[in-house]
Amino acid sequence: MSIFTFWKTILKSLISKPATLMYPFIPRKFYPNTRGSIKNKIEACIYCGLCQRKCPTTAIVVSKPDKKWQIDIMRCVTCNACVDVCPTKCLSMENQYSTPVAKE
Ligand code: SF4
Ligand code: SF4
Repeated sequence: MSIFTFWKTILKSLISKPATLMYPFIPRKFYPNTRGSIKNKIEACIYCGLCQRKCPTTAIVVSKPDKKWQIDIMRCVTCNACVDVCPTKCLSMENQYSTPVAKE
């Protein structure tokens, strides 16, 4: 690389806008179809377990006798398979990410 090309690249980088988002100074935009996190309207859940069976990462655990529905967000890859299979449509894909956690 010649010295001219070198300085041209540096000057271009100094005056042009960055290619990446200046987070957190410029917040990220969330679009309607952004896959963020799974939400369950638990009052509509019938604990059928279809979401658990369909989940490719075993992130969901359902117990019908205990009326328990749990999701491990660390395992979820936001594939939307559970939302598609849910018979009562109580599962939805939110376009916001879930709050960061330090522990599983
Ligand atoms: S598929 Fe829907 S109704 Fe069935 S357990 Fe999962 S969330 Fe509940
Ligand atoms: S979105 Fe995919 S990975 Fe996440 S809980 Fe649903 S089925 Fe599992």
